[in-house]
Amino acid sequence: MDNNKYKLLILDDDTLIARTISVIGESSGFETRATTSPESFFKTLDEWQPTHIALDLIMPDMDGVEVLVELARKECTARILITSGVGSRVLDAARRSAVEHGLSIAGVVPKPFSPGQLRELLNKDRDSRGDALEPDPHPDPARRRFEVTTEELEAALERDEFELVYQPKVKCADSDLAGFEALVRWRCPQRGLVPPALFIPVAETCGLIAPLTRLIIRRSIEWFAREVRACPELNDNPWRSSLVERLTLSINLSARSLGDAEFIEFVHEQCAAASIDPFCLVFELTETSAMEDPVSSLDLLTRLRMKGFQLSIDDFGTGYSSMLQLVRLPFSEVKVDKSFVMSAPRSEESRAVIRSIVELGHSLGLRTTAEGVEDPDTLEYLKEIECDLAQGFLISRPLPADEALAWARRHLNSWRE
Ligand code: C2E
Ligand code: CA
Ligand code: CA
Repeated sequence: MDNNKYKLLILDDDTLIARTISVIGESSGFETRATTSPESFFKTLDEWQPTHIALDLIMPDMDGVEVLVELARKECTARILITSGVGSRVLDAARRSAVEHGLSIAGVVPKPFSPGQLRELLNKDRDSRGDALEPDPHPDPARRRFEVTTEELEAALERDEFELVYQPKVKCADSDLAGFEALVRWRCPQRGLVPPALFIPVAETCGLIAPLTRLIIRRSIEWFAREVRACPELNDNPWRSSLVERLTLSINLSARSLGDAEFIEFVHEQCAAASIDPFCLVFELTETSAMEDPVSSLDLLTRLRMKGFQLSIDDFGTGYSSMLQLVRLPFSEVKVDKSFVMSAPRSEESRAVIRSIVELGHSLGLRTTAEGVEDPDTLEYLKEIECDLAQGFLISRPLPADEALAWARRHLNSWRE
């Protein structure tokens, strides 16, 4: 039975609860294994390679947060369900810390939970994972705990192994299409699809971020100009002829790319060659640790804005994007971090944070985007507080170029009806 696609590993010091979760998991089509100590948990993790983990946050020998830290160190890619009897603020803090560690959190279930609640979460997560559960080409745990090296990234650039996916952004008010965010993936022949969190930081430190960023810019502008803006359905639309003119393409910029002296000329040339108005391009910046060289980054960002490009402060509300940077740098958009948006349905505090960021953004004359929108109630809430744009799995996952275009066509057709 080891060929079941979905494997749930449980860590709970209470055997009865572990057994209950196990039964629920099995009824949802998971193969399950229950452990009651961190030792047996990590041993099973290495040997069995689960796709999902259910983790109790409070245990006598080791607290759940320590387990999460260890899972992050092991670069665990399983989807994690956190369960516990602690208050929702503590659960939320644990979830945020896990996300910051790069772990993939499927959900948080406060104890005591009803079997229905847990089953619903497991079913939802299993159904929505799709190709994310491609079998690992290297089940050997030693090989999965990889460190990406400079040489590998160099070779990947040479062999053209980077691909872009595009995630749609819509207006909260009427769900009209507003644009796309380009997100990079590495299709590594040995490891499968590698997420950016695992190679962008390496590219940043080994000096490869500049060529990688240029590649991403070149390719995404080409797609945007050739496919999206030239798409007949998006144009053949007399009463909304300005739609294609208004669509934006968001591109992530690492602060380190700002050291590339000819950067502005490069983007400007790319836009001119593709006949794209700079206003359609939004550069998203996180961790404006442009702090390393605050003066020249301020210069560069100001020049970008003066050329007409838009600038977005990404992950706002986290430690990486502060109020100081929001005021100091010439942003045109603020993106509410997904940790607040994803926890909005169960946390009044998160909703309060989102509302304050939206108000702050508007009072500074900025466009506001909420990312990580996963459920209809959150979208409704964003509409109520007049957040401008929404992005998230509820609307669409990031999609390969041709699927993103097909999505836009379908979306427009249903939008018109
Ligand atoms: P980000 O810029 O904050 O991108 C949003 C991330 O959230 C994406 O992850 C996206 O897949 C994910 N996401 C979007 N909606 C939802 C949702 O509803 N729920 C959940 N759980 N997640 C959602 P991804 O593609 O893995 O990218 C991770 C980070 O890697 C990005 O965070 C960005 O900082 C960096 N990155 C991605 N592409 C590039 C790139 O081309 N250049 C640079 N410099 N960094 C990039
Ligand atoms: Ca972004
Ligand atoms: Ca973000």
